[in-house]
Amino acid sequence: MRILVVEDERRLLGIITKQLKKKGYSVDAVDNGLEAEGYLGAADYDCVVLDRMLPGKNGTDILRDIRRSGNTVPVLLLTAMDSINDRVNGLDAGADDYLVKPFSFDELFARVRALTRRNSKQKSTLLQIADLELDTASQKVRRGGQDIHLSTKEYMLLEYMMHNLGIVLSRDQIIEHIWNFDYECGSNVVDVYIRYLRRKIDDGHGQVLIHTLRGRGYVLREES
Ligand code: CA
Repeated sequence: MRILVVEDERRLLGIITKQLKKKGYSVDAVDNGLEAEGYLGAADYDCVVLDRMLPGKNGTDILRDIRRSGNTVPVLLLTAMDSINDRVNGLDAGADDYLVKPFSFDELFARVRALTRRNSKQKSTLLQIADLELDTASQKVRRGGQDIHLSTKEYMLLEYMMHNLGIVLSRDQIIEHIWNFDYECGSNVVDVYIRYLRRKIDDGHGQVLIHTLRGRGYVLREES
């Protein structure tokens, strides 16, 4: 899951970003409206946490413009003013939800979780292929009934592949989805993580689920 956080209070931006990363999200953080627009044009996000009052261009204007251009990314609007007009303006502009400052981080995470879930193609939190199961709510992975422990990045990679069963994913697509712009990737980082995942998911099982398509990328699927 990839999230853009836009907030001009640097300390708050730092804390939100750090905490979301700790929860396993890939996060890009920006502190002004114009830069935020650039990021929104350049990448596909699963959710945007957007402050309302920003230098450069304010949150509601950004929101109105991206909705006009057909971008349906879930947006959680942060607003410092707890007046009914601000809420109505925010929702009118196309926000999916809003939070009034000051807010608790638990509440922020609960809203982000709800928005990313609403956005995901599968309504159920359980993703499945053959005897491999991944629960996006508990972040538990099992194969053949056995729990499998994955690192944060391994989990994100597997979840992305399970959302795209049978679809060949290129290295660039995987990097774009799992690693953020700050990350300076070696070109083989995807291959390294695929190798880790194979060791945990496929090794010791009769049926292999992760397949390499030379020159194209990787796919998760059942092959007879
Ligand atoms: Ca602000």
